[in-house]
Amino acid sequence: MNDSRRILPADPRATYLAAKSEIDAAIQRVLASGTYILGPEVAAFEQEFAAWLGASGTVTVANGTDAIEIALRAVGVGPGDVVATVANTVTATVAAIVAVGAEPLFVEIEPDTMLMAAPALAQALNTPLGRRVKAVVPVHLYGLACDMPAIVEIARAHGIAVVEDCAQSHGSIVAGRMAGTWGDVAAFSFYPTKNLGALGDAGAIVSGRKDVLENARLLRQYGWRHRYVSEVHGRNSRLDELQAAILRVRLGRLTAENTYRGALAERYLAGLQGAGLQLPVVAPGRTHTWHQFVVRTPARDRLKAQLEQQGIIAGVLYPVPIHQQPAYRQDLSLPQTERACREVLSLPLHAGLTPEDVDRVIQATRGMA
Ligand SMILES: *Cc1c(COP(=O)(O)O)cnc(C)c1O
Repeated sequence: MNDSRRILPADPRATYLAAKSEIDAAIQRVLASGTYILGPEVAAFEQEFAAWLGASGTVTVANGTDAIEIALRAVGVGPGDVVATVANTVTATVAAIVAVGAEPLFVEIEPDTMLMAAPALAQALNTPLGRRVKAVVPVHLYGLACDMPAIVEIARAHGIAVVEDCAQSHGSIVAGRMAGTWGDVAAFSFYPTKNLGALGDAGAIVSGRKDVLENARLLRQYGWRHRYVSEVHGRNSRLDELQAAILRVRLGRLTAENTYRGALAERYLAGLQGAGLQLPVVAPGRTHTWHQFVVRTPARDRLKAQLEQQGIIAGVLYPVPIHQQPAYRQDLSLPQTERACREVLSLPLHAGLTPEDVDRVIQATRGMA
């Protein structure tokens, strides 16, 4: 055991090195091809990712935030609409809602999973602001999918669209179906630290609806169906060939890496029993892809600082709920959300860690908690 080695919360360089020869070859192939944007690598990745998910189609875009924004526009959300989501998410989720001219309505979370609470959604939709909701964005946070059967049923009853934020849930299953195949549309990020990460920015929109996929395809490139003729007000959110080629290599390893993350998570769960921390739950009928291994303690800041002294870098996703951030401030109280933001700590978990690394984190954590 080398105690001097720093243990990072995520390690994109390790994921590159694990597939170095394949990725290097893919990069050389693209460089030699002469096509660098929206070419055969992008088309192949779109097909392969849809097949992996069991989805009917995908449209790649420049990043995960764009994917949410374009997905919202593709289902008809626009200026003056309201979009229901949670406040314990990354700013990107809400930035995308605001970017289409809509207003976020924050819904409370379940205390155990820290995911959108379906009863709270139903309640929010019956308020005056809730009656203007056009779409709901459930966030499958940390790698655990939301209660999609309940959320989809509520959305159908209210006639609103479901736009899944799948940036942290590449491969999460709930009630036998992949996250990203429940809603009208789903948005994925392939930011380098995600379970499926590029070596730069990348994102994708997934849908079973032909009209939504077609809208997304137009919106990502100036509203073009045919070159130089804009049918709608689109934008530029294209994916480049290098990232697509890299993602094809990484996709081939995703199932195995998710399984390996699961083994490391089991090790944490066993090793941290009785350590005085609230451990993550896997709700019945769901599989966790362990994008983050999140423990909870009121002494979060102290534990984080003490781990850091031993070279163990833990993350906080996310310290400030969106409704308390200057740009998005809303005068409302969400006690479960606010408590989660005060207590959560992500212990290092990624495919570049060894079981011995995890044991070192367990020992250090047990010594303090
Ligand atoms: C990473 C992330 C995003 C944004 O993705 P980018 O590719 O960074 O734009 C959106 N939502 C969640 C939950 C994320 O974790």
